Amino acid sequence: MTKVSEDFILKNFDEAIDKGYIKAYYQPIVRSITRNISDSEALARWEDPELGMISPMDFIPVLEKHKLIQKLDLCMLRCICDTYRKIKAEGCIVPQFSINLSRIDFKYKDLYDEFMAILKEYDVPVEAIRVEITESVMLDDQGRFREILDKFKDSGFHIWMDDFGSGYSSLNVLKDYNFDLLKIDAAFLKNFGNRSKQMLTAVINMAKVLGIHTLTEGIETEEQYSFMLDAGCELIQGYYFFKPLSAEEFIMHVKKENKTIEPDDETAYWDAVGNFNFLSSNPLEMFISGKGVNGEDSVALLQGKTPLALLEYKDGKTKCVYYNDEYYNRIRQLGYSCVEEVEKSFNDRKEVQHNMMEAVLDKSIENNSVERIDYVENGVYFTIKTKCISKHNDKYMMAITLYTFESDKEKRKTDDILRFNQSVFLTYDIVVLMYLPTNRSDVLFSQATFNYEYADMKLDEAITQIAEREISEKDKVRYLKFMDLSTLDKRIKMNGRIFIQEAFRVRNVYGGYEWKQIRVTKTSDSFTIGYLYTVQDMSDEECELADYLCEKHPKFMTD
Ligand code: C2E
Ligand code: MG
Ligand code: MG
Repeated sequence: MTKVSEDFILKNFDEAIDKGYIKAYYQPIVRSITRNISDSEALARWEDPELGMISPMDFIPVLEKHKLIQKLDLCMLRCICDTYRKIKAEGCIVPQFSINLSRIDFKYKDLYDEFMAILKEYDVPVEAIRVEITESVMLDDQGRFREILDKFKDSGFHIWMDDFGSGYSSLNVLKDYNFDLLKIDAAFLKNFGNRSKQMLTAVINMAKVLGIHTLTEGIETEEQYSFMLDAGCELIQGYYFFKPLSAEEFIMHVKKENKTIEPDDETAYWDAVGNFNFLSSNPLEMFISGKGVNGEDSVALLQGKTPLALLEYKDGKTKCVYYNDEYYNRIRQLGYSCVEEVEKSFNDRKEVQHNMMEAVLDKSIENNSVERIDYVENGVYFTIKTKCISKHNDKYMMAITLYTFESDKEKRKTDDILRFNQSVFLTYDIVVLMYLPTNRSDVLFSQATFNYEYADMKLDEAITQIAEREISEKDKVRYLKFMDLSTLDKRIKMNGRIFIQEAFRVRNVYGGYEWKQIRVTKTSDSFTIGYLYTVQDMSDEECELADYLCEKHPKFMTD
């Protein structure tokens, strides 16, 4: 780019505008999750026929100094409108545009009226335009500035704060004005180490708490992009995706790749997804649609190790649009090699749990609630929680967290207790973990009193089958009452202990029946509620007592 003098700029500016040497370049802004283009920023370029390209960094300060900048910015608006019209005329989807306004623009009293007149002239809706303002604008002449900015905002323009973090007043400005979006300055990405990453996550978290959308500019590498994606930054701008393009290049790209342009009517859908806080330790519970999230302990947030995915759910099929490393590790533990494999087995409803999962997704949508499912697959216990965070027509965005028993601290604790206490199990014939929400059970320990095959059945079916095949005719009715899952929890509560138990005559390997103590104990940690079903021998005296009671006082047989 050519360096030019102040004098050159002042002498040639009017002519450059009139002859079209000053024009808009467009830098596409990409939705981080979809990589589709949602907006594009108009950046001023001065192409002098003799001197070549002149940088805005050179001519903008001069135009500001001499109060000529509004002329440039209104010219940029005309360029945007012209480009908008050209794309529209092709019948293509048009991305939104953002325009930079300078602090000096706001000293120009006709700015708003002229701005609106241009939009009217070109028949461009206000929703198509975002207004970028640098924080330094806000520093002087507060009252006047606010008045004009409110006019823009009230007319439906989205107001973006440009270069957030590059000046010392950012936070103050943020406190005083209700921006729609924070454009995080590329300066944060310099020396992209731990410290700048922590600052970026803190800024994004803060924006989410305030319900403000986020965009990071100056993204140049895959590493920077994927970090910002995982942090939940919604929009990305930078050379990694696009350099600023001339109007011709831009229009050509939009026409050719029109399917990668985000349609207007999906913007609200994605904006709602954008309110979701990826950094939260409790993202599903903390999500309040359209309002950002409640405050949370920021240190906990930065640890952000929640195994998280976003699934788009439509016509009974899911498509994973985002997942983090923690989520990927968990699905590997469950025996899947990639998310596409999980997706496929769900979409084909290969296993019963996929039907259960579908029911859980539907319920979450219907009740606008966090729903969960507990299950065992390949010997790994897992808990999935889901919440619908956005919807558009018949399409729903479901946020998913996936905790597995093997890897998660709290679950490991329970797992260890089970493993190290195998010897305790030796006092039982059989130990089964029952999950009511999924209607499934899992054999933890067995000395072959019952066949293993019961564990392959649905829980309620297994209970009926056991009553039929393993319990003496004399105790069958009582057993079915004892195992009535619908009243289990209530009876345990009424018992005043964490279990209920009764004695039953159970078939032994010789085909006869023996008294056994059957107990159902409620077990839970912070993730899972289960019931331990145990079958234990009784002493000779206890057996005699049971026989006696059964004959003489049958009602005492119930605990
Ligand atoms: P800005 O609004 O923050 O614009 C972003 C600047 O970063 C642009 O420089 C853009 O070309 C550059 N950029 C984008 N991606 C990357 C990247 O990945 N790496 C690096 N190193 N740079 C990247 P540009 O076009 O030179 O504009 C500089 C500044 O001049 C703008 O900063 C804005 O403050 C001002 N400006 C540009 N056009 C206009 C305009 O039409 N009106 C007003 N008032 N100011 C403008
Ligand atoms: Mg800008
Ligand atoms: Mg900027």
